[in-house]
Amino acid sequence: MDETLIQTINKLQDALAPLGSGSTSPVDLPQITVVGSQSSGKSSVLENIVGREFLPRGTGIVTRRPLILQLINRRNSSKSAASDLIDIQTTDAQGNKTENNAEEWGEFLHLPGKKFYNFDDIRDEIVRETEAKTGKNAGISSVPINLRIYSPHVLTLTLVDLPGLTKVPVGDQPKDIEKQIRDMIMKFISKPNAIILAVNAANQDLANSDGLKLAREVDPEGLRTIGVLTKVDLMDQGTDVIDILAGRVIPLRSGYVPVINRGQKDIESRKTIREALNDERRFFENHPSYSSKAHYCGTPYLAKKLNAILLNHIRTTLPEIKARIETALKKYQQELAALGPEMVESPSSIVLSVITDFCNDYTGILDGQTKDISSNELSGGARISFVFHEIFKNGVYALDPFDQIKDADIRTIMYNSSGSAPSLFVGTQAFEVLVKQQIHRFQDPSLRCITLVFDELVRILSQILAQPEYARYPGLKEQISQIFIQYLRESVLPTNTFVEDIIKAEQTYINTAHPDLLKGSQALAMVQEKLHPTPVQVDPKTGKPLPAPAHSASSINDEENKSSSFFGGFFSSKNKKRLAAMEAPPSVLKATGQMTDRETQETEVIKLLIHSYFNIVKRTVADIVPKAVMLKLIQQSKNDIQKVLLEKLYGNKDLDSLVKENEITVARRKECKKMVEVLKHASEIVSTV
Ligand code: GDP
Ligand code: MG
Repeated sequence: MDETLIQTINKLQDALAPLGSGSTSPVDLPQITVVGSQSSGKSSVLENIVGREFLPRGTGIVTRRPLILQLINRRNSSKSAASDLIDIQTTDAQGNKTENNAEEWGEFLHLPGKKFYNFDDIRDEIVRETEAKTGKNAGISSVPINLRIYSPHVLTLTLVDLPGLTKVPVGDQPKDIEKQIRDMIMKFISKPNAIILAVNAANQDLANSDGLKLAREVDPEGLRTIGVLTKVDLMDQGTDVIDILAGRVIPLRSGYVPVINRGQKDIESRKTIREALNDERRFFENHPSYSSKAHYCGTPYLAKKLNAILLNHIRTTLPEIKARIETALKKYQQELAALGPEMVESPSSIVLSVITDFCNDYTGILDGQTKDISSNELSGGARISFVFHEIFKNGVYALDPFDQIKDADIRTIMYNSSGSAPSLFVGTQAFEVLVKQQIHRFQDPSLRCITLVFDELVRILSQILAQPEYARYPGLKEQISQIFIQYLRESVLPTNTFVEDIIKAEQTYINTAHPDLLKGSQALAMVQEKLHPTPVQVDPKTGKPLPAPAHSASSINDEENKSSSFFGGFFSSKNKKRLAAMEAPPSVLKATGQMTDRETQETEVIKLLIHSYFNIVKRTVADIVPKAVMLKLIQQSKNDIQKVLLEKLYGNKDLDSLVKENEITVARRKECKKMVEVLKHASEIVSTV
């Protein structure tokens, strides 16, 4: 069962390898970190666990930069995948003999692509790279060196070698060297997935152990701390670590493991790890203090312990790993679905379906059925409604005929419009002439309304095409946009003509019988009331105001009868001599001079009528022009657009280039497909547990 768990994790790591290392991987395995005083044997312990010699070791401060060592299990066809930490040791003992092993190599992050098959070269590179950052003179740096070891004999796992704690600065070391190293160590061991190997030389007092002290700070309960006692071989004769192992000195939940690494002499004489392990075993088996518990001593037991912690970690994090894989899988599957399938359909059916989607979106937006109805912004049909009922209506209602018509003009036109034939009520004609001139003014706002709606339709178009689903075929999108805008431009022309005709119709026939038009008699009464207000008559009996007497139609006639013609007043002021000479009229003949009461009254009546009629036209235009735009532009485009797009696009001979996918889409789909595949595989692996 445990074996399969390790296998599973190895398989899982393999399966997830294409995702690259880093935070994206859902598998978060423990990092094994070493802490302890300088020269306590940290690097030696790590090296023994890995089973290969490649770390610089020795007296003085040797490890001066953190080394992040990623072991990557690289399955080899002949070997079983079930390599746990103990396996590593035995295989490696043999592996040592063949230093240049084609199936095992190291790679540094700072030397990408360079494979180190010789582990001595790896050590040299670590030394070189350490000195490159820190100088030769005992300086330190917290910038880690990243090394990956690919091998069929390791478990995919991260080990971290750290500088040891030092108290007194030497060489180039800064004054606060102790604090700097301490901070560096804390950064690594405070991670919850860090397994802490608190290394202490057996010939040093445990009570002064720096490693234990630091480990306690981040792991007070000792859940992820293992005590390692090195240099047991160097203890004074007659002393041993039995009290420590029994937990009588400083108890530790996971206990202590005594080990023996190679001493400086062994290193110089190139003692192999296998030999060292044998010597270690023999030492514990034959030592009077340890022989009874030799099982619980030495590097193999330490490896077993680490293995157990590792398994436990895997077991507890597996459900989370599972969940993370499933979440990631779902995310990529969704994205893949959104990107749409790779081109399996024929170009023409793609074009058809995109056009259909587009037309549905277009009509949907106009009808107010937008997919995401925005609450902070009007869109689509609502904006067009705003153009009609706010912008256009206000524009029309703001038109004031009297900012152009002056009283004098009315008078002139009054004379002119009577023509050569004296008219009984020339006012009617003057009124019509003036109203017609003014009605023309509705044309500009009406045409502007069409332009605004056109702009809104183009805006809707770009809104639709900005949706991600249209990004897939950039060529098709561009064509739809061009054809649609061209179509709208063409539709604007008949719409303009139609609206111009509506205004022209208004101009052509002035409906003086319009039920809402002020009656001439009413107008006259109002003017008379304004010019000569009748004092309010009070009923002598009740004291209430009496209604003003109605002006009958006959009273207008009476007025008219008093003067033979409007021209009477015009000529009356001229002197008799000139009249007699019958001079030709001046080249520019204007109605000038003081207006008679009668003229004033007539002018005012006409103005009232113009005002009244103009209001009727305002209402009509404000009502009918939007209807016309709706019919000729909006509704028409809704009806036509599918047909137009199909005709234009299907007629396109180069359908293939039209449905050529956006490169980003292609790349993203590939990426998503890969992720889905990888994660599916990972999910299968996890679910076998
Ligand atoms: P680090 O500074 O904690 O990484 O310690 P190293 O691993 O570099 O070891 C310091 C020195 O102690 C080296 O010369 C090692 O050979 C030596 N050493 C480490 N462990 C043992 C051990 O168990 N027995 C003996 N005799 N020497 C050891
Ligand atoms: Mg070291």
